[in-house]
Amino acid sequence: MYKVGRLGVLIKMYEDCKVYEYFHKPTGRWRVYLILPDGSRKYMNRARYNYEYFWDIKLDPKTQHVDHIDENPLNDNIKNLQILTPKENTEKRVAKEKPPIQHTFNCPTCGKEKTVPLNGVRLRKQKNFFCSVSCSNKRKG
Ligand SMILES: [Zn+2]
Repeated sequence: MYKVGRLGVLIKMYEDCKVYEYFHKPTGRWRVYLILPDGSRKYMNRARYNYEYFWDIKLDPKTQHVDHIDENPLNDNIKNLQILTPKENTEKRVAKEKPPIQHTFNCPTCGKEKTVPLNGVRLRKQKNFFCSVSCSNKRKG
């Protein structure tokens, strides 16, 4: 006996399981545990469970990663989930990393223009930028 799922496909997997959701603090993600008809238990990410349940397919954890399209790991809505290969997943992470902020200034001692990479904290804290240590020392002395 099969149930008909939300897409009109037959739900065979997890059909006779009891499903419990819980928040897994160490990973900051929702997980589920299933009690199978034979009484055994199975733990998995809720994202994976939702994806497998909705599409009624079994994913291979080694080659099929469930990815959150909006980058919010708590948004396990089926519309926010897609399957990436481990390679695609890495590429997405790399593409997301921001290039360092570049700060261009004129040295207050010699007037030379210079560009340095820096983070936002340093930009807020440091008021004077010099082109070199010797220009910085000349200014102080
Ligand atoms: Zn200078």
